[in-house]
Amino acid sequence: YDMFVLAFVERLFRASYKKDDIVLGKKLGEGAFGVVYKVSVDKPSAKKRGGDLVLKKATEYGAVEIWMNERVRRACASSCAEYLYGFLENSSKKGSEYWLLWRFEGEATLYDLMQSREFPYNVETLILGEVQDLPKGIERENRIIQTVMRQLLFALDGLHSTGIVHRDIKPQNIIFSEGSKTFKIIDLGAAADLRVGINYIPNEFLLDPRYAAPEQYIMSTQTPSAPSAPVATALSPVLRQLNLPDRFDIYSTGLMFLQMAFPGLRTDSNLIQFNRQLKRCDYDLVAWRKSAEPRASPELRKGFELLDLDGGIGWELLTSMVRYKARQRISAKGALAHPYFDKEGLLALSVMQ
Ligand code: ADP
Ligand code: MG
Repeated sequence: YDMFVLAFVERLFRASYKKDDIVLGKKLGEGAFGVVYKVSVDKPSAKKRGGDLVLKKATEYGAVEIWMNERVRRACASSCAEYLYGFLENSSKKGSEYWLLWRFEGEATLYDLMQSREFPYNVETLILGEVQDLPKGIERENRIIQTVMRQLLFALDGLHSTGIVHRDIKPQNIIFSEGSKTFKIIDLGAAADLRVGINYIPNEFLLDPRYAAPEQYIMSTQTPSAPSAPVATALSPVLRQLNLPDRFDIYSTGLMFLQMAFPGLRTDSNLIQFNRQLKRCDYDLVAWRKSAEPRASPELRKGFELLDLDGGIGWELLTSMVRYKARQRISAKGALAHPYFDKEGLLALSVMQ
């Protein structure tokens, strides 16, 4: 109860925005449930901190997204893009829409960065703020990928510790924050708050099949008792232990790790093909490796080489994330404590010179 009062008071004193304050800029994205724009604010009080913002005009899932962003703002702000304000806008022609505002964190998502031939060196430049004059090779690439993975798992652990499962973790929903020089999570429209059961049963159309764990439908059909309406009936911790819904995000994060390590799996079509092969191997990565490695292209071989560094510690982490059974997947916190992260990451590179 106190938490609700505090949250209400905090929101009263926080900068608020209305439709007329917002000047639309470039369109950044358009999905089935909303449109996203870069915007500026035409309001003297907002000018003090300055900078561009991001506006999402959301339809169906706007209320859920506002709820999740308010929770994140109070409980694990550094995990996600900085959320500023959300409101219901009734005056629009299409009926009512939810308008949500965030700080514009930066130009590039992990997806954009991975599409470049320079990846992962383009990320190294962003994080260190300078170009490193060092020989390129898998060891250096491994350190960069390790740094990215640590940042992703740190952000994810923040969400999961708060009781939020994202369910749409993919490179398109990871933004590089130029301010903090770290990757942050965005797009909480498909997220679930396990403490109160908000949006616990996902709309299947919200899930991206390219990154979804195999239990995607199990979650929506085999837990019929889980509340779907925003009512404060806390989901039983016992049920949560059995289902481990946070491991859904771990699987998706494992696929991103895979795409970072294997240049050949960074395109959509190759990822879809990989998913088909993995399914044929009953989601057993070791079996997939046995079938794929003998006829591997040099690009594929490079991924195995990278993950085999330091006694195969990267491969060990990957295989503990991408597993058929949610229960057997490592947690975000567990992954952060994995020996893959024992070596110093990217920052050690600048000291090496
Ligand atoms: P959707 O996927 O539902 O269209 P997202 O919330 O993922 O909406 O936003 C769409 C795109 O807008 C993102 O992929 C990203 O390129 C950009 N974007 C979203 N939020 C931010 C932000 N805070 N800062 C910079 N760019 C953002
Ligand atoms: Mg998105």
